[in-house]
Amino acid sequence: VNSLLLYCRAGFESDLSTELQDKLTDLGVFGYPVFTKQSGFVRFICHQQKDVETAIQKLAVNDLVFARQMFACTEPMTLSDTSDRISPIIECLDVDAFYGELRVEHSDTTDGRELSKLCRKLAVPLRQRLRKSQLLSAKEQTNKPCLFVFFVTGTEVIIGYSNPKKHSPLPLGILRLRFPSAAPSRSTLKLDEAIQVFIPKSEMQTRFVPGMHAVDLGACPGGWTYQLVQRGLFVQAIDNGAMDEKLMETGQVTYFAEDGFKYEPRKKNVHWLVCDMIEQPQRVAKLMANWLTKGWCKEAIFNLKLPMKQRYESVLQAKQIVDEMMLKNGCQYQWQAKHLYHDREEVTVHLKTL
Ligand code: SAM
Repeated sequence: VNSLLLYCRAGFESDLSTELQDKLTDLGVFGYPVFTKQSGFVRFICHQQKDVETAIQKLAVNDLVFARQMFACTEPMTLSDTSDRISPIIECLDVDAFYGELRVEHSDTTDGRELSKLCRKLAVPLRQRLRKSQLLSAKEQTNKPCLFVFFVTGTEVIIGYSNPKKHSPLPLGILRLRFPSAAPSRSTLKLDEAIQVFIPKSEMQTRFVPGMHAVDLGACPGGWTYQLVQRGLFVQAIDNGAMDEKLMETGQVTYFAEDGFKYEPRKKNVHWLVCDMIEQPQRVAKLMANWLTKGWCKEAIFNLKLPMKQRYESVLQAKQIVDEMMLKNGCQYQWQAKHLYHDREEVTVHLKTL
């Protein structure tokens, strides 16, 4: 085990590598990333083996904007005998190791997804063999290291384990959501995912209370507003476009044909601000920080549309704008940013005053 394996959306390998190098350097972990463009994963090779453990103990997938999953891993291994892929995997494991869970996975790309059948087929007998060899707990234990067998191709695997306190509990690190047929746009899934990723389950009922007020900047046709309405909130929807009629019929939405950059709430009773306007990330960051520092809202979820290159730097610049404005106003706050599964050329940010 000399490296780390991380998953990301295909095409974001270089952004994840830049981010990883930055965050690992802060932890005193040095090494270099290896990736193929559009592969959906990055391997980070540490100069010192002991650093791999430091990385998975200290860095969480949640701390990384562009990562969906992370685990400590070996060099890629070739399984030359396709009639028995299991024995070489078992043989390469440490006899003293003990895992609470097994995941047999592949990357989230067209090529990767073609391996899903093989992964499913192998998982059952592999699990049995691991249990027989006393390497895997009889029942799933989510507080023990999770064993990963990652298929790069049908004959090349990377084997590793994750720290359950810092990994993603989701298969492939992806939160799959069903599109609600009554929602006016597919982007509804972005806000649904953001809420589920950023707000702990235990706090959901106190942070999304029916009757709360929210503002949606750039709301049309209403996919994000739909999520807020579903949670029982009253929404001020700001846009020049047309809102979905059914959504308006709920009586929970008030529409204002105004500029989202100029709109000010009439009353100081807004808890949530959400914003999906396609604009420069710095401009959106400034607007969000302005709402929070003025006390116009308590929490915000918004998208930052990213440039084609230097996307990580662009997120950092947005964060710096927020940092400076908050500091100037003596506001303490929490920042979470994630390249969500339903995001494409954008990341989603959650901001909360403390
Ligand atoms: N979140 C919406 C949904 O789920 O249906 C989709 C929003 S769409 C990506 C962006 C919207 O922002 C467009 O409807 C556009 O009219 C609006 N918009 C862009 N600039 C704006 C501005 N300055 N003020 C208000 N709305 C704006």
